[in-house]
Amino acid sequence: MKKVLPPPFRIKMVEPIRMTTAEERREALKTAGYNPFSLSSQDVYIDLLTDSGTGAMSDRQWAGLMMGDESYAGSRNFQNLERKAREIFDYQYVIPVHQGRGAEQVLFPCLIERVKGDKPVFISNYHFDTTAAHVELNGAKAINTLTPMAMDTGSWYDWKGNFDLAALEQVIEENGAKNVAAIVITVTCNSSGGQPVSMTNIRAASEIARLNKIPVVIDSARYCENAWFIKQREKGYQDKSIKEIIAEMYSYGDMLTMSAKKDPMVNIGGLLCIRDDEELLRACQVRCVPMEGFITYGGLAGRDMEALAIGLEEAMDEGMLAYRIGQVEYLGECLREGGVPIQYPTGGHAVFVDAGKVLPHIPGDQFPAQSLANELYLESGVRGVEIGSLLLGRDPKTGIQKTSSMEFLRLTIPRRVYTNDHMDYIAESLISVYQRRESIKGLTFDYEPPVLRHFTARLVPVL
Ligand SMILES: *Cc1c(COP(=O)(O)O)cnc(C)c1O
Repeated sequence: MKKVLPPPFRIKMVEPIRMTTAEERREALKTAGYNPFSLSSQDVYIDLLTDSGTGAMSDRQWAGLMMGDESYAGSRNFQNLERKAREIFDYQYVIPVHQGRGAEQVLFPCLIERVKGDKPVFISNYHFDTTAAHVELNGAKAINTLTPMAMDTGSWYDWKGNFDLAALEQVIEENGAKNVAAIVITVTCNSSGGQPVSMTNIRAASEIARLNKIPVVIDSARYCENAWFIKQREKGYQDKSIKEIIAEMYSYGDMLTMSAKKDPMVNIGGLLCIRDDEELLRACQVRCVPMEGFITYGGLAGRDMEALAIGLEEAMDEGMLAYRIGQVEYLGECLREGGVPIQYPTGGHAVFVDAGKVLPHIPGDQFPAQSLANELYLESGVRGVEIGSLLLGRDPKTGIQKTSSMEFLRLTIPRRVYTNDHMDYIAESLISVYQRRESIKGLTFDYEPPVLRHFTARLVPVL
């Protein structure tokens, strides 16, 4: 029996969603150029595109919206947010931003400016796509040093988000510590399947950074989910609270960037926090004002900051985390029982289906995970997203399609939004697609945009 945890909430308000017919979905997908990104949300029954900004806020968060103080500077809501963030992370300086990438565009150029060498690089367990984009837009290079265990999707490993520490040291040596703008610890590691980074690994990466005088940035979209995994799996943490675990995680960092649209369950918002470096704070403030907004609102309304202050507290709730991560695991187990290969164990926010294994007859440049996403949509109205060759793109120098080490269909579960009945429906639908996998065809471009092509590409099935 798969274990099902009962939800630690009841539902006070509902949003109707509409089931479509197979014929409607065929038309909609064709119009969308066989790219689920271009579907109208009206034509989607269950939307698993992302867990970003799609969570259901609590009654307390909604009540917080009514308490907005829309003063341009120094609003009460900013003060509440600052107090809560300081309490959790113990970083002195707190700047709100409109979302995670807002923090990246403010902070990264300031870090690059401080690099003593002339070939700046950032090193991460794995850079999230906008994170890599901000590194590269500012003329630096983004290097990933993820544990190779993450690529072995079929085998259990507790820490598929970990740094390969030997690779980290080697990359520092090859590039010269003077060129490394920062080490970015992404918790959880979104790109490998929402996989956790162990405390031991965070501590070790941070020690390597200290020895080399490199600052540590914690990319914090899913820091509570990461803390929950540490509590479950790492020796010595079973009796610690999520808040204590988070405090220790952040003791190993110098600053954090956060997309608050993930764990803290707001529809929009983010944070940039700095431990104690006042000079860096000043540099960030100078960039924040023209790009995000004044330093006490950073692109957010007062009401948004209030909902975020409340969300930071709620995100640490253990019952919530156990239910949420349990729901993701439940979907993963249903799929495994039906024979569908997934990144195993499941991570915090999504089930990553190994489309490369489902559709071995479709080569990477015909986008197996995108084909699988399309088939799932046609079958059921469920929208997932490709994380593979289509997302990865071409080598900018040679124009050749890069070879992706992973072809994933990501089924991302929004927080507190869908029930386990929805999970059953998703699993049944994908299993029936899996059973006819041999008849599924690949895709080729009808229109290929030059950059960030996965958002707006138009495709056609290969005949
Ligand atoms: C979502 C995300 C970001 C970017 O945040 P936005 O709020 O989407 O701008 C950065 N890093 C990670 C790991 C993320 O998941």
